[in-house]
Amino acid sequence: MVTNSTNTAAAGNAAPAVHPRKHIALVAHDNKKKDLMEWARYNKGSLIKHDLCATGTTGSLLEKVLGVEVNKLKSGPLGGDQQVGALIAEGLVDFIIFFWDPLQPQPHDPDVKALLRLAVVWNIPVACNRATADFMISSPLMSESYERILPDFAPHVNRFDDRLLLPETLEQKENDLAPESA
Ligand code: PGA
Repeated sequence: MVTNSTNTAAAGNAAPAVHPRKHIALVAHDNKKKDLMEWARYNKGSLIKHDLCATGTTGSLLEKVLGVEVNKLKSGPLGGDQQVGALIAEGLVDFIIFFWDPLQPQPHDPDVKALLRLAVVWNIPVACNRATADFMISSPLMSESYERILPDFAPHVNRFDDRLLLPETLEQKENDLAPESA
């Protein structure tokens, strides 16, 4: 098994090993759909060895190009990007191809940002353009198992463990802060 290149000793947790057959999520904004379809057709042989999911319209186009079933989520602006984000948080996405449009504002821009943010939080590889996608799809790691190292989330998850936010505690604090009456 291949391990994440650095930080292994300092890292918090390893996610469950990424299987050679990967869960790949694909999303393309409208002006980038042609790019993604060309890329997908060229890499069909590699892509169809994996489990594919995509936002709605992207997924329908991919099914025609690849001739395989794609798990189609909602269309991006209707919640599809958020669904991909939820799959990331559930550990159900290993690899993302996200051709977002850098030249046109999107109505669902907050969702786009949230998806990219979660990919970074969970250390998921993301290709945002064809060159990066080319490098990623041709990596030997695509056909190997891989141990994805996660940051140590414990300090965040446990940050209230030694604090009691009971009503009387809050009340006491409010009394402490209240100005003294004349
Ligand atoms: P679509 O969504 O695949 O349904 O077009 C993509 C997006 O804009 O996020």
